[in-house]
Amino acid sequence: STGSTKYQGRDDRATSEQVLDPRTRLILFKLLSTGFLSKIDGCLSTGKEANVYYALSGSNSTGDVAPLTENEDGEVTIKEYAIKVYKTSILVFKDRDKYVTGEHRWRNGYCKSNPRKMVKVWAEKELRNYKRLWERGVKCPRPVMLKNHVLVMEFLGSSGWPSPRIKDAKLNPKRMREAYVQCMLILRHMFQRANLVHGDFSEYNALWHNNQVYVIDVSQSVESDHPSALDFLRKDISNVNDFFRKYGKLDVMSTRQLFEFVTSTIIENTEESESEALDRLMEEVEDEFVKLEGASDQDRLKATHEADVAEAVFMSQFIPRSLSQVNEAELQRMEKGEREEDYVRAVAMLTGNQEVVDKLGGEGGVSIRVGGKNKEVTFEEDG
Ligand code: ADP
Ligand code: MG
Repeated sequence: STGSTKYQGRDDRATSEQVLDPRTRLILFKLLSTGFLSKIDGCLSTGKEANVYYALSGSNSTGDVAPLTENEDGEVTIKEYAIKVYKTSILVFKDRDKYVTGEHRWRNGYCKSNPRKMVKVWAEKELRNYKRLWERGVKCPRPVMLKNHVLVMEFLGSSGWPSPRIKDAKLNPKRMREAYVQCMLILRHMFQRANLVHGDFSEYNALWHNNQVYVIDVSQSVESDHPSALDFLRKDISNVNDFFRKYGKLDVMSTRQLFEFVTSTIIENTEESESEALDRLMEEVEDEFVKLEGASDQDRLKATHEADVAEAVFMSQFIPRSLSQVNEAELQRMEKGEREEDYVRAVAMLTGNQEVVDKLGGEGGVSIRVGGKNKEVTFEEDG
């Protein structure tokens, strides 16, 4: 969650002052006594739902994370971990229902009445999501292991200093722009490669590490076919846009353009194709900006107003439950005469719904507005 994080760096008082429940203490004690860890050394964050601690590996540690120190032979002697300890208090987890309802992975085994079981489920969910992201090459901390509600993962930082959240990273304008693009690529890669929607993405849950954005806090992330997945995605995108507009002073793309960028299957899952698509979007934003520079105050106001309205409409629009429904909805509109057949076919192709494409007959080239007001992206049947 975006929960309040009290401490910027590590706080030594927090470990001793924070009261841990007996179970948690036992788990941490075991990790120390078996030599998995040598030391739990300070608190990285105290949040509403979890605390995160800094720890050093012991003689018996496993988990392939970057070493903090090496000996003369190049052997790893110490590794750094971040340990996320979920809070077992029942109140905090109440509002999480919306993420679990409709999530087929958790149809069984989710027990609302037992808070200890519940946090275990959340911790397991976070581990799985991190694993999937890590395996599919989305930048995130590498998960190491889970014991009940205690998740051990790679520490993102250097020599004990945690990497900042992008909110606190004080990026220069050039880096700001890079971070913005990377956030959008993370959302796209999560969606396209891992079939996940973050669900709580913002400047709080993205760390600036080695000059790159890393995504964290994925316990509430949902499968892309979750009934509210596309609503969550729209919110994630608008969170990022808000931050980079307000604090990054960037001319951001519209939520709609980015939504299409993240979900589009027309854009290939290659670095080249994705950066080309983003460049195109950026160009559109710039074109619009240049156009307005020479315009009268009145026209400028009008354009801003139009953009605000379009944004508000998109944010409040019904988003179908799944991408296949996009086409169903478009088909219905076509039947009502609100949509051109070509447009519906294009949407079907865009979202990879072969069934609808076949139904309408796929002859000829079709064109669709993929974001932006002026630009038409035309694609032919094959290629
Ligand atoms: P919460 O649910 O409390 O928001 P997060 O997973 O977002 O939990 O973690 C809270 C904070 O702890 C983050 O904002 C970040 O500062 C720090 N943190 C979490 N994971 C790591 C990590 N792997 N490496 C370094 N810092 C981390
Ligand atoms: Mg968080």
